Amino acid sequence: MAVSTPIDQDRVLRKALFLDRDGVINIEKNYVWRVEDFEFLPGIFELCALARELGFLLIVITNQAGIARGYYTEADFQRLNEWMLGEFRVRGIEIGYVYHCPYHPTAGIGEYRRESFDRKPNPGMILKARRDFGLDLSRSVLVGDKDSDIEAGRAAAVGYIIRLDPCGTRADTGGDPVHTVLPDLVEVRHWLQDGYAGHHS
Ligand SMILES: [Mg+2]
Repeated sequence: MAVSTPIDQDRVLRKALFLDRDGVINIEKNYVWRVEDFEFLPGIFELCALARELGFLLIVITNQAGIARGYYTEADFQRLNEWMLGEFRVRGIEIGYVYHCPYHPTAGIGEYRRESFDRKPNPGMILKARRDFGLDLSRSVLVGDKDSDIEAGRAAAVGYIIRLDPCGTRADTGGDPVHTVLPDLVEVRHWLQDGYAGHHS
């Protein structure tokens, strides 16, 4: 029997792989803003390359309260961001867009001190991406390392939510079908290849 063309829906509404930045793309070190402090997590390029092959748009969603707190500026953030995008690009990986939220409701300075629907656990950045790129969130995947990532994904009804937790096990989710706990990005790649793609093709 002929192999069927995979998922025509891909051409109608796109699916995204949403990635938190600190703790998912790079090692969490608290308020990273300099290139010399930015260390990619092992497996991130391989995961992103596979996701692109499978037709996912890559979207980064990152709270950047360090801007609110005055630890670094928007310009510092953008400088690091451009460098990061370049590191993906030289490996042939296109990041669709990076959404960031520079506000903090209590610790922000001046105009940066405010509530924001974009600040995770709120779903604002995910919903903006849905509108900007015409995404089907029910077929999309989110990878985060904190409760606020998971909650944002749930609030936006993202179909597949993965928490990276080096000490975690799948049992941590209490059998929740939407939410998977995996110890590292290699496991996330395997899940995307075998679990997600297996289920959707
Ligand atoms: Mg994080």
